[in-house]
Amino acid sequence: MKGTKTRETKYDAVVIGSGPNGLAAAITMAREGLSVKVFEAADTVGGGTRTKELTLPGFKHDICSAIHPMAKTSPFLRSLPLEEYGLEWIYPEYPLAHPLDNEPAAVLYRSLSETVKSLGNDGRSYQKLFEPLVQNWNKLAPQLLGPLSLLPDTPLLMARFGLKALQSAESLAGSYFSTPRAQALFAGLAAHSILPLDKLSTSAIGLVLGAVGHVENWPYPKGGSQAITNTMADYFKDLGGEIETGRRINSLAELPTSKTILFNTTPAQLLDIAGDYVPSGYAGKLKKFKYGAGVFKIDLALSEPIPWKDEACRKAGTVHAGGTLEEIVNSEQCLENNSHPEKPYVLVAQQSLFDETRAPKGKHTCWAYCHVPSGSTKDMTEPILNQIERFAPGFRDLIIGQHTMNTQAMQNYNPNYIGGDINGGKQDITQLFTRPAGLFDPYHVPDTNMYLSSSSTPPGGGVHGMCGYHAAQSALKQFR
Ligand SMILES: Cc1cc2nc3c(=O)[nH]c(=O)nc-3n(C[C@H](O)[C@H](O)[C@H](O)COP(=O)(O)OP(=O)(O)OC[C@H]3O[C@@H](n4cnc5c(N)ncnc54)[C@H](O)[C@@H]3O)c2cc1C
Repeated sequence: MKGTKTRETKYDAVVIGSGPNGLAAAITMAREGLSVKVFEAADTVGGGTRTKELTLPGFKHDICSAIHPMAKTSPFLRSLPLEEYGLEWIYPEYPLAHPLDNEPAAVLYRSLSETVKSLGNDGRSYQKLFEPLVQNWNKLAPQLLGPLSLLPDTPLLMARFGLKALQSAESLAGSYFSTPRAQALFAGLAAHSILPLDKLSTSAIGLVLGAVGHVENWPYPKGGSQAITNTMADYFKDLGGEIETGRRINSLAELPTSKTILFNTTPAQLLDIAGDYVPSGYAGKLKKFKYGAGVFKIDLALSEPIPWKDEACRKAGTVHAGGTLEEIVNSEQCLENNSHPEKPYVLVAQQSLFDETRAPKGKHTCWAYCHVPSGSTKDMTEPILNQIERFAPGFRDLIIGQHTMNTQAMQNYNPNYIGGDINGGKQDITQLFTRPAGLFDPYHVPDTNMYLSSSSTPPGGGVHGMCGYHAAQSALKQFR
């Protein structure tokens, strides 16, 4: 097998990168009694789940991921005893609110029936769309959060989901809903896809995020997202695993000998590090892998909570400040046109409202970002602040500290965020289910002992660890 060491091996597995998927892969291997070592370029573990005082002392900001419905509902993460290692979940009163100019905010309540009731004429359509998903979530989750299967466990349920999920969010919102509130709510959910909303399959992410809101709320870890990977790392070490931070791997020659290598990187880095060992046909496919649009992020220290006009927004952990369906469609269309929206769709998280450990007493944090074209260096601070101010007059006066990151800063911070793409690759219909190369086993680098375990594999972006878990399952076949 190419890439296999012939000397006596030091480890059963080495993992390059300690993001949630890298640690998930490492834990899955270590749980089988294998010797595993993780190498991490940064000084701390965590990848997209780190927390830091970015603005002022005492204000803890999530540098990347903030809100974690996918972690809480992930079949893999649920199987880990992370609470015993100190992970504590915070549940906001409402998962999500979506303010509008001339109407009450649309709210994703934890309760499906409350949401249905709140949406008036569109309540029944909302119920028709989400109830089958919410009721069957435990059966659907393992299938939705894994590689595409030609023989799903519940074919009828999956087919029903697929019929809706494959549609563009713009057309699904238009065909199911007639009121601006329901349309905007769905558009805001689907825009997490970081794609123009007229693209096929943009409904998939909206449907999943809405459903998990009803299944588990949209919780986040006390103290910051760093707690997820810190507790994973502690558990991994108790299983006998080793972690070396501050060690960026540039070539396979830098690694100790091992029976298998898992890459918590994107395809581009896999090729940089191990290109000579990657079969040329497969390398050709990886070179065609598409990276997605980027993000511009802002973290704020505030003297008071955000003064949202609509009371519901003051009770939500997450607020989508993007306006109507049409506005969100226009904002996300810019990603395709290589332009920047004046009124961007802004994702806002206000963790300190429900987690007093995030800021000094009485003070607050604000985490917000918008989508921008890949590689953009445009400063989107003003458009982001304007959107929040639009729904929360007086907000700007409360800012006492500020930190921003454009797409370059994102990539400098984490080499996996190529051009600012936070999902490890474009999640369009050609790559959503079969990334990175359209192979039956998306994790295995053919004819080698190497595996890709990052969010560049199914099920893609988000903190759920499922990519790492499935990659390790693929790698474990080598040992069985
Ligand atoms: C601004 C932002 C907001 C987000 N919001 C959310 C959210 O609210 N909820 C959510 O679920 N997800 C969110 N995400 C996405 C989430 O963070 C990622 O999908 C997730 O972290 C991907 O996990 P991963 O393990 O595949 O890779 P990563 O978390 O990116 O980890 C990769 C790790 O590998 C290391 N590495 C890379 N190359 C090398 C090398 N050569 N040698 C050694 N180490 C290397 C990196 O330093 C990094 O630590 C957000 C991301 C960003 C940036």
